[in-house]
Formats: sequence, structure tokens, C-alpha cells
Amino acid sequence: MAETITLQRMLSDEQCAQLRQLMEGAEHVVLCCHHNPDGDAVGSMAAATLLLQRLGKKVTAILPNHYPDFLHWVPTAPNMLVGDRQLQRVDEALAKAQLVVLLDFNTISRVGPLLTDRLAACPAPRIMIDHHLAPDADCQLTVSHPEMCSTCEVLLRLMLDMGWAEGMTPQEATALYTGMMTDTGNFAYASNRPEIFLCVSLLLQHGIDKDHIYRNVFYSHTESRFRLLGYLLYEKMEVMESLHTAIITMTNEERLRFHTKNGATEGFVNIPLEMAGMRLSIFLREDTEQPNLVRVSTRSLDDFPCNELCARFFNGGGHKNASGGLLRMSMDEALQVAHRAVLAYSDKLKD
Ligand code: 5GP
Ligand code: MN
Repeated sequence: MAETITLQRMLSDEQCAQLRQLMEGAEHVVLCCHHNPDGDAVGSMAAATLLLQRLGKKVTAILPNHYPDFLHWVPTAPNMLVGDRQLQRVDEALAKAQLVVLLDFNTISRVGPLLTDRLAACPAPRIMIDHHLAPDADCQLTVSHPEMCSTCEVLLRLMLDMGWAEGMTPQEATALYTGMMTDTGNFAYASNRPEIFLCVSLLLQHGIDKDHIYRNVFYSHTESRFRLLGYLLYEKMEVMESLHTAIITMTNEERLRFHTKNGATEGFVNIPLEMAGMRLSIFLREDTEQPNLVRVSTRSLDDFPCNELCARFFNGGGHKNASGGLLRMSMDEALQVAHRAVLAYSDKLKD
């Protein structure tokens, strides 16, 4: 029988000491996550907010732009600043900040154009807590673990190593579970490490109702989202059968026709992979604010490298099986780029 797995320490002694030192000098802490926040971004911001408040800090959490409706119930989320709507308050918070914690991204530009320069100009020391490959932000302390399923897992492990998990409240545990659950599609991918389930067990012991969290997130969609999804799957999905690939496109006009908000299409890109044999799914959608900007989401199964595809063709990157990017062009041109990208990878996509 294999050796029993336990949760090993993640932080080195040096990292623990550094973190303690950075925390000691800071009364006002600012938290920030990536643009278009997802469950792991909001979950880790919420958990960090509650943790830091428990440790006696004054916390301002900044979401670069608004977050999807299915996360509105997450503890503290409604109190977070929304950067593109509350810029003055963001500037005030950054002016007071004595410590900045960056959550769920690996490079400063992922906070979006409005916040990138502001964060870079903020003189407070920075900590990055993340699970994306190749962190490149200039930080006093970088806790980056790409092998982990989510930033929430990294944060929980950090709390354990620092002795901060003992007093973890059910609200903190709920926020952490939300990120672990959403970044793994309810533990359907990126979730084979046994440690993940030790973390889940621990969160259960700290009072989460995981079935309730699941329903809050996954059974919370609007009728309009479903109608839009039905339309896109029926009218706008191109299936390249021999390449085991599907491409869906969505214009702003189409999104507005169904009265759906930005963020309501979260998860659409995963759906074509539910067809037997599919390996790659690409979702192209027009940006809701800037004209001539197409946002790209890609998802794959097994070894297909979405991050490489996105770096080569879509000015982006991400994880092996979930990446994104953007194209500054019309939707028609973007679709042509997507076709070229798929053909360039035909060797990897064919049987
Ligand atoms: P999504 O498809 O959910 O927008 O993004 C999936 C993943 O791709 C994100 O978690 C992030 O790691 C990565 N990603 C998305 N957009 C970009 C981008 O513009 N640049 C880079 N480098 N990565 C991105
Ligand atoms: Mn994440």
C-alpha cells in the first residue's frame, strides 16, 4: 500500500519569517485580483479579507471590474471595491496601503489597464499568492504554486503553515472552498492530487456546507443565460470533427439580444468538451466595452497545450487546459486567426 499522504509544509522557514515581517508593519492592507474575476479570484479575496480582519488589519479588497452574479453571495464580496466604477476610492485605498496582496494572477497587467499603472506606482510592499505558471510581478514575497488547483488552495496551505488556520471561521472556509470548487469544475479537472481532498476535508471540519456552496454557484443562472447558451450551441458553434475541436463566437449584439450581462457567459467554453471525443474548445466573444477587441477563452482535455496556443496566436497564456487571450480586430478576423491556430495544431488534434 502507498504511504499515507499528509499535508506537508508549503512555505519555507524563510518565507514564513518574511510574511510575518511584512504583516507586522502593515495596518492598512489592499487586496487585488485579476480583471474579470472568477470564483477563485473572488473566493481568495474574500478569504484573505476575513483572515486579515481576524488578524486585526484594515482591509480594502479591489476587484478590477465587476464580478459575475453567481458569486454575489460569497462572504464580503458585496463590500469589495469595483475598480472601474470606484476609481477614486481605489486611489484613496492605494494611497493608504502599507501592504498589497495580489491574488490569483501572475503578472501585473492581468489587473487590466485601469489598475496596472496604479498598482505599479504604489510604493507599499507586495505579496503575490497564486497558482499560475511563470510569475513575473516584482514582489517582496511570491508564493506561487502552479501544481495546486487554485489560489484558494495555496492560501489555505499558507494559513496552515502560518498557524492562522486554527481559528478559521465557516465564512473563511466557505470562501476558500468556492475557489477550489470553481477552478476544478467541481473537482472534475486539475484535481487528482490527494492533498486537495485533505484540504476539502479540513474545510468541512471548519463548517462549510459544500452541497449548499455547489448550488449557490452552479444552480444560480438566469433564464436569459440559458436562452443565449441554447442559441450559441444551435446557431454559432462550429464543430471541426476530424480535429476534435469546437469554436463558438458571440458578438455584443447577440449578447444584448438576450439581455445578458458581462460574466453571464462564464463556463460556456467548457460545454463543447462534453461531446465525446472533443479535445479543444475555443470561445470568441466581443469585449463589452472596447470596440474591435475580441476576448478568447480556450479549454482542452489531456495533453493539449492551450497556454502555448494562446501565447502563439491570441496574445495570452494561462494553464495547460484553460487559457485565454485577446485579439484587437473584428470578430470575422478573429475567427480566421482561430482557424489558423487550430490548423497549426492539427497534428496534436487529429487522431
Ligand atoms: P478564461 O477563459 O476563464 O477567461 O481564462 C482562463 C485562464 O486563462 C485564466 O485563468 C488565465 O490564467 C488565463 N488567461 C485568460 N486571459 C488571459 C490573457 O489575456 N493573458 C494571459 N496571459 N492569460 C490569460
Ligand atoms: Mn485560479
